Amino acid sequence: MPPQTTGKVTPTMEQWFSLKNQEPDALLFFRMGDFYELFFGDAQAAALALDITLTHRGTHDEEPIPMCGVPVGTAQIYLSRLIRRGFRVAVAEQTELPRKGQKGPLRREIIRVVTPGTLTEDELLDAGRANTLLAIVAPDKRHKDRLGAAWIDISTGTLELLRLGADTLAELLARIAPSEILSDPTLIPTEHAGLITPSTAHPSHEAAERTVTEAYQVAQMDALGDFSNEQIIACAVLLDYVRRSQAGKLPRLAPPIDHGLDSIMGLDPATRSSLDILQSRDGGSKHTLFSSVNQTATAAGTRLLAHWVSTPSTDLALITGRQDGWHWLHHQPKPTGVLRDILKHAPDSARALGRISSGRPLPRDLAAIRDTLRAANQITETLGTLAETGMPERIRHIGANLYGRADALLERLEAALNTELPVKIEDGGVIAPGFDAELDRQRDLRDNSRRLIAQLQVRLAEDYGISNLRIRHHNQLGYVIEVPAAAGRKLRQHEGLSLRQGTASLARFSNEELTSLNQAILEASEKADQLERHLFADLARHCLNTPALDDIGLALAELDALISCARIMDRGTWCRPTMTNGQDFNLQACRHPVVEAALHESAAHDTAFIANDCALPPEKHAILLTGPNMAGKSTFLRQNALAVILAQAGLPIPAKAATIGIVDRLFSRVGAADDLARGRSTFMVEMTETAAILNQAGPRSLVVVDEIGRGTSTLDGLSIAWATLEALHSQLRCRTIFATHFHELGALLKTLPRLAACTMAVKEWKGHVVFQHEVRPGLAQKSWGLHVAKLAGIPASVLQRARNLLTRLENERDQNNQPASLPLFEQAAPEPPIPQNDPPSVGNCLPNGTLSALQALHKEIEGLDPDSLSPREAHSALYQLKSMI
Ligand code: ADP
Repeated sequence: MPPQTTGKVTPTMEQWFSLKNQEPDALLFFRMGDFYELFFGDAQAAALALDITLTHRGTHDEEPIPMCGVPVGTAQIYLSRLIRRGFRVAVAEQTELPRKGQKGPLRREIIRVVTPGTLTEDELLDAGRANTLLAIVAPDKRHKDRLGAAWIDISTGTLELLRLGADTLAELLARIAPSEILSDPTLIPTEHAGLITPSTAHPSHEAAERTVTEAYQVAQMDALGDFSNEQIIACAVLLDYVRRSQAGKLPRLAPPIDHGLDSIMGLDPATRSSLDILQSRDGGSKHTLFSSVNQTATAAGTRLLAHWVSTPSTDLALITGRQDGWHWLHHQPKPTGVLRDILKHAPDSARALGRISSGRPLPRDLAAIRDTLRAANQITETLGTLAETGMPERIRHIGANLYGRADALLERLEAALNTELPVKIEDGGVIAPGFDAELDRQRDLRDNSRRLIAQLQVRLAEDYGISNLRIRHHNQLGYVIEVPAAAGRKLRQHEGLSLRQGTASLARFSNEELTSLNQAILEASEKADQLERHLFADLARHCLNTPALDDIGLALAELDALISCARIMDRGTWCRPTMTNGQDFNLQACRHPVVEAALHESAAHDTAFIANDCALPPEKHAILLTGPNMAGKSTFLRQNALAVILAQAGLPIPAKAATIGIVDRLFSRVGAADDLARGRSTFMVEMTETAAILNQAGPRSLVVVDEIGRGTSTLDGLSIAWATLEALHSQLRCRTIFATHFHELGALLKTLPRLAACTMAVKEWKGHVVFQHEVRPGLAQKSWGLHVAKLAGIPASVLQRARNLLTRLENERDQNNQPASLPLFEQAAPEPPIPQNDPPSVGNCLPNGTLSALQALHKEIEGLDPDSLSPREAHSALYQLKSMI
């Protein structure tokens, strides 16, 4: 809460209080001359966050008022630091010019509230990343799990709407990675709490429709598409907030996209975070899947390619459409180089349009639109020369979107804009001579008068015999005749000259001719400025009224993304995967793009990446992968998952050849980060994630998992891993790679007909272990744990003791003749019939036990219906099971 105005305050502070009350949750940047000043608590918070000096100005209730300030010229730097630290900032500008005899402070208004999700300034945005503001609502009191989502990238105006269930919210949040979330905080998973701007009230359906239809200036909601109540309300909440942040003005909005999840491959948050798609687990963006394939030349192309990679599709036509596009470009190397050179000079028109629509356009934004249109025309010319070469549909579509769509606008901008542009419109000289006759006339008048003044100076200097007489422009006095003080005393007697100012060193005069020239210049400049601003606004309006600009921007971005793919193909080591609607999975000589690049980069390694095949045909759709730590299991698991993501994003993949049946959901559980920060044990996290797979995977899914069951005691862990692998193989029947340390699971090869065994090749050489990083058929022959422990630097004495213990344990086991730790499991689990949409039930996989505890366990598991369990219920069910073992 801002401090209350008790007692008497100065008019300026009164103004501050009233503005602060409009945006009580934001720090108020209060413009005073060349500074934005902050007062009271705002000043204390900002001084601390920005490490700037806290001072005082005047008093309030007899206490000094804390104050700090940042210079207007460098305010962006401070703004971005405050936003990154989670503050909102309201910017109050002086909205009137000082007048003569002005009493009281100048009028000030909040022109903008800056929040992480509502940035439009280039300096504050990451050029290659969409900046997303997301609104989540649950308008139905009885069904709190029916949610509406609306998200917007204000800098480009892209707006998407989705209706979803509470259970898919985490997946959506992981996919769009918003910068700010407007929502009732109780709806949002706690790990996103830092992004929430609380918003609990929402409008009625009718009010929401009004907000949306008014924003889009359509009479009926239907004109925009068929949206649900939840979507419309979410959209209205979003638009209201955006409007407030832009001081009542909405930016330009692209038509809302109805965002179904149908044709998007399912990637839950755990899968995303294990695969480092756009961001690596350490939060960076260097060693990511995206960075390994990004060869785009423009910021819009980067954003589009990132969108493709983070939302792989399940739509065969869409995927092959993109493939056809880059495949063709790859075979036209020369023209593709030319196209890329043109793109390199095409500015970010989507963000320029965003700024134009925000009402704060800069001259360079209009130039950006002009240069984009020029680039579009050059590209159509180049494409035109290739029309005979069997151009694929996507490229034709791009060409059609670029061709002559905004020629009238281009002509106008080319004629209107000067070659050299000032930074701000107020600096003048934006509009080129010859564009507007009246502007030219006023500028002539102004410049003529300036020339006359120059002549007058020569004449007066001669007339008065003062060689150093100058006519200068003075801020308050306008043009004056300026002479040294001594000469001034002489001039004072001259009739026709009036003294305007005298100092110890010089004197300033004026005469009638100069006064009238001064007046003429003032009038002409003012008229020229006004006209120029008017023409500029008119051009900006013209841009906003040219809907083809959206298509052009998108077409250029798409071309850039496709050329990026073609360039990857140029490396000669990537391939175009054959995609099918079946359940094929055959990767030949596949590699991990990020590890490969890292090996390539690091000077210490001259080892090449070892490529591996991976085949999961319907008759052997599951692989049991064994091998020691550090042998390359995780890398292998991940590279297969990454290949699917790239393939379904429509990109080339790092392999020699590949055939992939479209994957509907991908589950990757590799090297799960401990989730201790959230107060859940590693085992709990692991089980929750396993439960999610067992509840959601189906015959078209791909599951790659590493070491299920490692977070608990050996017997618990083995039982769970055993049952899970059986369920994946026999009930869910998904393509599966199951890496494990439990060599006992090898027994399943006898009972599960479609399970194959693979192991990481390891050589022993002079007592050392050598990892060959090669995947071979078969089971690991022995555990290499002690070798790896040695590599890691465990002291020799401890190693020796471990070796002795191991030998003793192995002997005891051999004497008891119990190769598997659990004799029970040697009995085969019966293979159930192919399910007809039956809920998968892990319980069916457990063999009948002889121990009563295991029978009870069996019964308990049989009683579970994973399909009907919420993740929370799955947690407690698992805890219950664990307590029984
Ligand atoms: P694991 O999961 O078996 O412990 P990783 O997959 O983490 O092993 O691999 C360990 C290291 O081995 C990696 O960081 C990488 O440098 C190297 N590596 C893994 N796979 C390969 C490969 N196919 N070719 C070359 N080096 C590899």
